[in-house]
Amino acid sequence: MIERNHTQDYMMESPVEKNKKLIEDITDSYPKKVSKERKTHLVVIDPSEEQHIMADVATIPGIMTNRGCSYAGAKGVVFGPVKDILHLTHGPIGCGYYTWNTRRNLAEPEEGYNYFIKNCFSTNMQEKDVVFGGEKKLYGAIKEAYEIFKPKVIGIYATCPVGLIGDDIKAVAKRAEEELGIKVITVSCEGYKGVSQSAGHHLASNTLIMDIVGTEELEDPTPYDINIFGEYNIGGDVWLVKDLLQKIGYRVVSVFTGDSKYDDLAKAHRAKLSILMCHRSINYTNRMMEEKFGVPWLKVNYIGISSTIESLREMAKFFDDPMIYENTEKVIEEELKKIKPRLDYYKERLKGKKAILFVGGSRAHHYQDLLKDIGMETIVAGYEFAHRDDYEGRKIIPEIKEAPHHKILDTYHFERVTEPAYPQEKIEEMKSKMPDHFMNYEGMMVHMEEGSIVIDDFNHHETEELIKALKPDIFLSGIKDRYVFQKMGVPSRQIHSYDYSGPYSSFEGAVNFARDMDMAINNPIWKEVTPPWKK
Ligand code: SF4
Repeated sequence: MIERNHTQDYMMESPVEKNKKLIEDITDSYPKKVSKERKTHLVVIDPSEEQHIMADVATIPGIMTNRGCSYAGAKGVVFGPVKDILHLTHGPIGCGYYTWNTRRNLAEPEEGYNYFIKNCFSTNMQEKDVVFGGEKKLYGAIKEAYEIFKPKVIGIYATCPVGLIGDDIKAVAKRAEEELGIKVITVSCEGYKGVSQSAGHHLASNTLIMDIVGTEELEDPTPYDINIFGEYNIGGDVWLVKDLLQKIGYRVVSVFTGDSKYDDLAKAHRAKLSILMCHRSINYTNRMMEEKFGVPWLKVNYIGISSTIESLREMAKFFDDPMIYENTEKVIEEELKKIKPRLDYYKERLKGKKAILFVGGSRAHHYQDLLKDIGMETIVAGYEFAHRDDYEGRKIIPEIKEAPHHKILDTYHFERVTEPAYPQEKIEEMKSKMPDHFMNYEGMMVHMEEGSIVIDDFNHHETEELIKALKPDIFLSGIKDRYVFQKMGVPSRQIHSYDYSGPYSSFEGAVNFARDMDMAINNPIWKEVTPPWKK
């Protein structure tokens, strides 16, 4: 515990100096070796120097991290929202439970398609399976699931014990495919395969490209076919976005993977463009889609009004079509008109409020734009599982040294296998019209205010100290950490699952978000709570 009078100590200096000193104090309270390591993960934005951050390395044992495991990244994040795959966790029941509906990926049942989004299927591995092997049990579970639910596709996700005892899930899947006549996909995403859930995103992307995308044909292509990547329909986000895009004239071929179906993912290679929201969870797939099928991608952001408008306008530039240009402006005007009075009301009530954001590998970036739109300020932003390019931009990729855990994650490269929708010269021409940051993600740090703080793999100790010193009006974080801060007297809301609210995307979503911020921050209950530092 650091003893000091925060207010007096830091009153006289510039925000950069003040926060650098604060970070020194917080990290100096660790043992020397830990302190040295943690210092590389905390950066105070200072435009006068070239700044780098350490990311995607293992958490120091003993530190209370909020990260998830590789299995959580593959099954919980990327594949879990696909509504007609029967997702079967091969492992102990706890792993399955851990990824069961915690992210509120909403999905709608559709006629003619299975719907498994609410279910949790597991082989419920026991000690004897670990001793004698779990392949027989896995095959039995696939067969039983098939007989009861008749799925078209089953996905098998391996957890830690499966990798440790060496069950051959691919062989079991092959046998099930032959004997049952269904598709069985596998992801060898044992929890220990990376330092966070990020490894699971990588492995899931490999399965998507190797086994799914490109296996079916789009029967009625249009010039306006697009894919939405890095979007998991938390609280219904993608429904608002799809609605906007369809009003403009685009057709969404597939969403990776919120409210998605196997058949749509299989046809995604025929889209003309992919737009990417969450950079970290699925940029691997975009890179491979571009290599293998020639589908270009743009990094967009439709969280926040100004960023949604910018993204829609840049998409229009890519298609360079009079109808798309015209409809884009029409939709923007209509939407702004609809939300203005409600948004103005909340903006007045939220003016100057300060937020700390600790969420995901991209959300801590996206939500800064939305907070700005409603008059709020982000003073600290941290990612759980980002890589350096999520902070510093894709330009840093050649400089990133391969960590030992990267060696066990297969990275595939492809020759082009299909004729792309547009010839390569045309794609290059379209790309050249775009601002560079839409084709080459420039990361979070470049958009943050001078003196604000960036933290990789934030932990409870650091958060507590920062809250005491910086006194934010709200803490926006994930599923596991929010209650600690709520108990400290700081309102907190989940940006992984939106608690029971949302959607927060695009125009209407911004009003929902502003309403929720107002309810949390200006709730009279906080007057009855005394934070520990005021006692
Ligand atoms: S770390 Fe291993 S045991 Fe724990 S939830 Fe992930 S896969 Fe399961």
